[in-house]
Amino acid sequence: MNKKDIKILVVDDEASLRAILDQVLSDEGYDVVTASSGEGALEMFSKDTFSVVITDIKMPGMSGIDLLKEIKDIDSDTQVIIMTSHASVDSAVNAIRLGAYDYLIKPFEDLDIIAAVANRAIERTRLIEENRELVEKLRGKNEDLEQANKKLKQLAIRDGLTGIYNHRYFQEALMMELIRAKRYERGFSLIFFDIDHFKHYNDTNGHPQGDILLRELAQNLSDRLRESDIIARYGGEEFVIIMPETTKDIACNVAEGIRKYVETYPYEGRDKQPEGKVTISMGVSSFPEDGDNGTSLIQAADKALYEAKSGGRNQVCRS
Ligand code: GH3
Ligand code: MG
Ligand code: MG
Repeated sequence: MNKKDIKILVVDDEASLRAILDQVLSDEGYDVVTASSGEGALEMFSKDTFSVVITDIKMPGMSGIDLLKEIKDIDSDTQVIIMTSHASVDSAVNAIRLGAYDYLIKPFEDLDIIAAVANRAIERTRLIEENRELVEKLRGKNEDLEQANKKLKQLAIRDGLTGIYNHRYFQEALMMELIRAKRYERGFSLIFFDIDHFKHYNDTNGHPQGDILLRELAQNLSDRLRESDIIARYGGEEFVIIMPETTKDIACNVAEGIRKYVETYPYEGRDKQPEGKVTISMGVSSFPEDGDNGTSLIQAADKALYEAKSGGRNQVCRS
């Protein structure tokens, strides 16, 4: 900031002192404004911004100490310098305790000291400002970092093509669900499903269109499930749903609803599939009856899915 843009307010009831300070600080390059009383100074201060206020301590009416308190209340960044006589250095020390930046002793033996103290006070306001900008910048950077971390976390647990959970997250979620179900002696179910004749779909509609079908189907089903259900892409065109607190009968009902939904949904290119529609085959297993660990539950659901395939596809089989 240019020195001529920095405003200093000088407050003293003695005109000669105001004149001296005005002269010295103007020569130093600052924009100087003077007031002859604490009340007058306060009024100016409320209308304008001053980096530094240099005030006499003893004035008729509002004292320099009272002015200091008022100013610190309005703008704590403003640096206040107190002027006092040799006789009352104690009150200058008190002023510093109340937030004054420094003090000057009258009469001035050396006028250079006035400019030196003012320069230091200005430097301090500059540092405060710079510090605040740095903190702001850091805060912004931190927020950016948090956002990036969140995104990264999502990327690590989501399948890139479909946006639903990936295989790794499914395995973790299954472990957690098993621990929870065992501790509280609750049940849960797994639904495995696989798109029927998907190789044919790719061959007739092209691989990119196959990707679109995978994404659309995954999103459709994800939207239809309960908040607590976890749908993941197990691999290729095979998907899995973890349904907490769900018995096999209910899971089979849900699976049946999904199967019907898929076979009637107007997916692009469905007419060229063997049955004239996109269909899925599904297998259901449940804890605790089909196994007490992840592997056996997955195997049971997979076996049921295989039965659905060999039984003619587009159907739900239970373990
Ligand atoms: P089935 O009814 O027995 O399940 O027959 P299918 O043709 O669906 O099964 P198969 O295992 O023979 O073929 C699966 C196909 O899925 C082959 C593979 O190229 C395709 N596939 C796997 N992952 C992707 C993918 O990410 N995108 C696309 N477009 N195709 C995929
Ligand atoms: Mg398939
Ligand atoms: Mg398959």
